[in-house]
Amino acid sequence: MKLITNCDACKKEIGIKSNASSRPELGMEKGDEFDIKCPNCGNNTKKHVNDIRAVASNKIVLGGLLISFVVTATLWNIAGLVGTITIGIPLLIWQQQSQSIHAFNAYRTRR
Ligand SMILES: [Zn+2]
Repeated sequence: MKLITNCDACKKEIGIKSNASSRPELGMEKGDEFDIKCPNCGNNTKKHVNDIRAVASNKIVLGGLLISFVVTATLWNIAGLVGTITIGIPLLIWQQQSQSIHAFNAYRTRR
């Protein structure tokens, strides 16, 4: 989550540097009304805490996506490996069986 507001002059988004997780917390930290300098146009804007809104931080969302992707990929690899072993062992046994059967049947001694 990040806190943003819009500049009165250029309407661009301004990020608020704060760790506050609620409006009262932000008000306690900065006061109910505080000045923000727009990094885009340099305009000083007086903002009320009610003008500040919280939005999802793309970095955190991307980080979460990345983590879930890695976890999914890891689990998939493990499950895939388990699947390969489960299918592979009977196949291997069957292959060895048929090889010995073939070897047995192929060899004929003279009567
Ligand atoms: Zn501005």
